Amino acid sequence: MSDCLFCKIIAGEIPSTKVYEDETVLAFRDIAPQAPTHILVIPKAHIKDAGEITPENSALIAHCMEVVAIVAKQENLTGGFRVVSNCGADAGQTVNHLHFHVLGGRELSLQMA
Ligand code: 5GP
Ligand code: ZN
Repeated sequence: MSDCLFCKIIAGEIPSTKVYEDETVLAFRDIAPQAPTHILVIPKAHIKDAGEITPENSALIAHCMEVVAIVAKQENLTGGFRVVSNCGADAGQTVNHLHFHVLGGRELSLQMA
């Protein structure tokens, strides 16, 4: 999608600090980290949010979860980490391209909302 920030990052039109990339998934550092490690894992296909996961694209989402595990190992998040995906306005989603936040490197609050 031409007006999507993360599609522009995938296309290399906006720079990012990549930590993992393959044919279908990209992981890069969040520009405003909320924890010592804060990585965004995204499918290269434009999917709006977790509400658009279907049988047709769920293998790609499963691969995103594999990449979550890969980057957690790369970042040595041996003490644990959190995976978050904000979906829609009530959850505070600001970029409408499905992304999984990987947060770690410190003890995280147990607050869910
Ligand atoms: P959301 O609020 O939609 O769950 O998460 C969007 C995330 O994208 C935020 O954590 C925000 O800091 C990050 N972000 C926004 N613009 C950019 C950018 O240009 N580059 C990178 N690396 N991260 C961005
Ligand atoms: Zn997009």
